[in-house]
Amino acid sequence: MKYEPVMGLEIHVELNTKTKMFCRCSADYFGKEPNTHTCPVCLGLPGALPYINEQAIENCIKIGLALNCSVNKVSYFERKNYFYPDLPKGYQISQLVLPIAINGWIEVENEKGEVKIVRINRAHQEEDTGKLMHSGNETLIDYNRSDVPLVEIVTEPDFTDTAQIKDYAKKLQQIFRYLGVSNADMEHGDMRLEANISVRPVGQKELPNYRVELKNINSFRFMAQAVEYEIKRQTESLEKGEKLVQETRGWDEDKRQTYVQRTKEEAHDYRYFPEPDLPEMRLQNLELKAKQETPELPHEKMKRFVQQYQISKANASILTENKNLANFFEDAVTIGKDKDVTESQVANYIVNQKVDFQKTTPLALIEVILSKKLGIIEDEETLTKLAKETIEESPQFVLAYKAGKTTILQAFIGNVMRKTGGKADTSKLRQILEKLLSE
Ligand code: ZN
Ligand code: MN
Repeated sequence: MKYEPVMGLEIHVELNTKTKMFCRCSADYFGKEPNTHTCPVCLGLPGALPYINEQAIENCIKIGLALNCSVNKVSYFERKNYFYPDLPKGYQISQLVLPIAINGWIEVENEKGEVKIVRINRAHQEEDTGKLMHSGNETLIDYNRSDVPLVEIVTEPDFTDTAQIKDYAKKLQQIFRYLGVSNADMEHGDMRLEANISVRPVGQKELPNYRVELKNINSFRFMAQAVEYEIKRQTESLEKGEKLVQETRGWDEDKRQTYVQRTKEEAHDYRYFPEPDLPEMRLQNLELKAKQETPELPHEKMKRFVQQYQISKANASILTENKNLANFFEDAVTIGKDKDVTESQVANYIVNQKVDFQKTTPLALIEVILSKKLGIIEDEETLTKLAKETIEESPQFVLAYKAGKTTILQAFIGNVMRKTGGKADTSKLRQILEKLLSE
């Protein structure tokens, strides 16, 4: 029997709002002195009351809209109850029944340019937990991260290979950065991935009941390795006729294998119920505001670049990877226009020379392109003279060429390039050489 994996992905992304989700402590906690960004609300002290950060809700809506979700007109928060020392209240304020955004989709393109549609189940708002720090046999807790706004994005089980998962996660990272709602830095834990994986016989429609959750993976590479391992492990078990169980597994980077964290018997019952300290939200006005403030997204920008500037899709895709690079390109195009530098010259130069836009300015770039253009020898008479010289210098090459070894032409071109310091126009030079050699 043949088997195939069916997989879904959950992404947690930390928002970069000024303040936390339900209090006014600074949310900019990374690298700060432990427990200095805290107050009774985010420490979960009895009697402290939360209030909603509107900017966070707007950012969550922006994410939902970018993923083609519908925004619920009414949404509310719930308590997700579980015990863990990094969760001071004993529950996480999250959403279950009426999340902010539902039923979306996103197009993800692979390296070959094939497009896949991934369905989005939901994007909901919640709060982050504190951070445990283990040293020796002591564990310390830092509550600076407690209550930092977190958005959870859940896909339908639409992935069938590891590369798709990686492409999707990278695409979302790009969207978060374009929207400006998160730095989406994996190393800082701004973005955390969880995959659900089960392997089933090819052709089987229903989802198996032995779904494995891979938890808390903080790099694209580890996620890909863990997923690959898990597909292999499940396939081998099924081939041996073993029974698989629903469980949560982690990734052991040293052993390079997944390991059991929790089985179904210990699975959590979160006893969700509506958060009584927070009001229901009506989201229509915020949705309008979010729509107005949403910038051009990466795939829209890419399409526009191809149409407006007549550049290749490959170049447009590289130039729109990063919003600041895209702006740099457009500024350079504007400056170049008055100086006879075309859009595709600018695009080619940035892409081929791997220009670091942070180390130069659009004006400086155009000047470099112009200086290169000025130095190029295009004059036919000069090129012919140079070509004749190199032919006379290497009679053995001429013989080889005439005997059918036409690749030797490259050696003539190389000689001329050496003489001119790389300034000869190669396509013109090639024509001239071909003509001279066939005489
Ligand atoms: Zn606080
Ligand atoms: Mn969550």
